Amino acid sequence: MRQLKFDKFFKEIEEEPLSIWKKREDIPNYIIDYFNKYPVRVAYDTVKYYCPYCFKELTDDYCNNCHQKFNKDIYFYISDIKDIKNYRYSDLIFTFDVINDEVVLYVIKRLTTYNNPNISIPYYTNNYEVYRAFHITNRGIKDLLYNNIEMTYKEMHQRLQQTEEIYILGYDLIDDEESYYLYVDNLDKLKNTIYKYTKLWELKDYLKDNKVNILNIIFAPFYNQDFEFLIKNKLYNMAFSPFYLEKFNNNLKKLFKDNKEFIVKNNLDYYEFKALELIKCQDLDAIKIVANNIELVKDIIKIVNVDFVKIKDMINEEELYEYFDYINMARKLGFNLKDKNVLYPKDFIKEHNKLYKQMVLINEPNIDKNIKKIAKKLTVNKYEDKNYVIYPAPSLESLIEEGSMQNNCVRTYASLYSQNKVQIYFMREKSNVNKSFVTIEVKNNKIVQAKIKNNELPSQAIENILKSWEKTLKKKD
Ligand SMILES: [Zn+2]
Repeated sequence: MRQLKFDKFFKEIEEEPLSIWKKREDIPNYIIDYFNKYPVRVAYDTVKYYCPYCFKELTDDYCNNCHQKFNKDIYFYISDIKDIKNYRYSDLIFTFDVINDEVVLYVIKRLTTYNNPNISIPYYTNNYEVYRAFHITNRGIKDLLYNNIEMTYKEMHQRLQQTEEIYILGYDLIDDEESYYLYVDNLDKLKNTIYKYTKLWELKDYLKDNKVNILNIIFAPFYNQDFEFLIKNKLYNMAFSPFYLEKFNNNLKKLFKDNKEFIVKNNLDYYEFKALELIKCQDLDAIKIVANNIELVKDIIKIVNVDFVKIKDMINEEELYEYFDYINMARKLGFNLKDKNVLYPKDFIKEHNKLYKQMVLINEPNIDKNIKKIAKKLTVNKYEDKNYVIYPAPSLESLIEEGSMQNNCVRTYASLYSQNKVQIYFMREKSNVNKSFVTIEVKNNKIVQAKIKNNELPSQAIENILKSWEKTLKKKD
């Protein structure tokens, strides 16, 4: 209990306010030490890694500019280094403090700055700030740093049900980006507080290695009785995944009862639990794939009830969308969806492409003929050197196959290509001319995109060849 005292007008008696950390100087050293040991994140654009301080490219994890080595396992993804200003990469942590028996949750932020005259991008500093401070009570949470406004758990619950973007007390609570590490070395302090039934301190080892969403430490423990149930059953992954809105209805409770051993043994998280509900089979690999693609799987199940254990053996996860595409086409083309050979074809990609071609030809009967005509004209742009050959996509089928081999969407360009609105070329290695290498889209004699497998960029050497080839396109036209 805090002391009671008169308000500033000497009219009413009020509680003495909680004394909280407000400035950098208030943050205990153990938090600063924790941050200093915590590795900074490097920027990563699927090909290269960049120094978190100066954004020069790293060579063997090392920045030649800052003379420092970095851990590449901790990164944040960027799609373009030029666009780095738009990315948030500051680090935050949650930490509890207990004053008497009252709990304050702090969000501490490591600051970035633009103040380096040599670069125009933010970089890490060794400065920290108290970003947010919340008083956790039985009723709800109160913002202690900015407006002293309290929001009850009931109000939070109502808002969570209304919208997917939840700013509660100025804090976006359900954004995935808002999952951070909780400082765990002082969790024992929570023993005699309102957290006593949650036994959070017993999860120290789990929480050390797993980020938490703020709702799972301020909302779920007090509002959702299932939180206690999950902790008691050691289902930590589920307790700390975004289950906070879902109270287990009877259906889920039954599911839990029937599959308890499996769920506990594999420590299923919320999405895996939803996946189990959806496909009702105890196959962990299948469940993981379904958990990553819940909405897509729902769409597939709407068309036909397939066995995901068989699907998992037939295709890999990245092809799940293709499967949805396939089964959708099979339905439209009037195939028997009860036939196992239709549902689980021996050569899935081949069958998929066959149906795709049929669909395209139904919509545009002359498309293949037109593509062949265009390709013939475009052979004037054929290129050949010692190692490589570049030639126009010769047929509808070749476009569909290229898309499968490269895992790209070139097949959707078939119609534009057949009308000569864009031109599609394949670059192949002469040593392996049947295998896709670079898919090239040309428009107005300029290369619009040139991608290797999985939409990644070709090497600099290849880019150079493409650039000189591009120049010859102009001349010939
Ligand atoms: Zn650097």
